[in-house]
Amino acid sequence: MHTSRKARWAVRQFALPAVVRPCPDCPSTRHRPSGRIRVNASGKLLDVWLLLSCAGCDRTSKVPVHERVHVSTLEPSRLVSYETNDPAVVRELTISASLAAKNGYRLDWSGTWELDARTPLYALGSPAPLRIRVAFDLPAPIRVERLLMIGLGLSRPRVRRLTADGLIVLPPGLGAKAHRDFEFTVYRPATPSATATELPTARWPHAEPIGA
Ligand SMILES: [Zn+2]
Repeated sequence: MHTSRKARWAVRQFALPAVVRPCPDCPSTRHRPSGRIRVNASGKLLDVWLLLSCAGCDRTSKVPVHERVHVSTLEPSRLVSYETNDPAVVRELTISASLAAKNGYRLDWSGTWELDARTPLYALGSPAPLRIRVAFDLPAPIRVERLLMIGLGLSRPRVRRLTADGLIVLPPGLGAKAHRDFEFTVYRPATPSATATELPTARWPHAEPIGA
C-alpha cells in the first residue's frame, strides 16, 4: 500500500477582470476599475459606487454598490474601507459575480491569471498516485482541461487520453470550467514505455528526488 503523494497548484491573480459593457462615448466595451469608490451622503442615506475607467477613452462610469441605504445598515469598518478606496474592497467589488449580474455586465477574465504548478520535490518513479489540489487566488472560470495541459505540460489529446484511460481522475469533467479549489489524482502509467510517451519526465511535476 503506497501513501499517496500530494501537490498544490495555484491559480495566481495576474490582473483584475475587465468589466464588459458599452461606453456611451466610444466604441470600446472594456472597463477597468479606477481604484476609487465614491460615497455620497444625503442625510442618513448613502449611495456607494465603484468607479470604472473606459479602456478606450478613460471616461469614468459608476457601478451602484449601495443605493439609498441607511448609514446604520453598513458596518462602520466597511464604510471606512469605501471612503478610503481600500484596494481589497475595490478588488472584491470588481470580481463580484453578483454585482455584475445585478448591473447587467459581463466580466472578461482573459489575461487575469497564471498557473503556478511548481511543486515540492518527490521521488520520480514512485508508483504512488499523485493527488493535486488546485487552489484559486481569484474566481476566474478556467476550463479544467486547460489547467491540466499547462500544469502537466501535456497536449490536449494526451490529457484526454489519460483521463479516458482512468490515469487522471477528477471530479469536474475536463470540459467543465472551475473557478474554485478542486482536487484530482494522477496515476502513473503501468509500463515504462507508457511512462515515456505519456508523461515526459521533464514535465512531470515531481521530477527530482527528495533531498536533491
Ligand atoms: Zn469609452
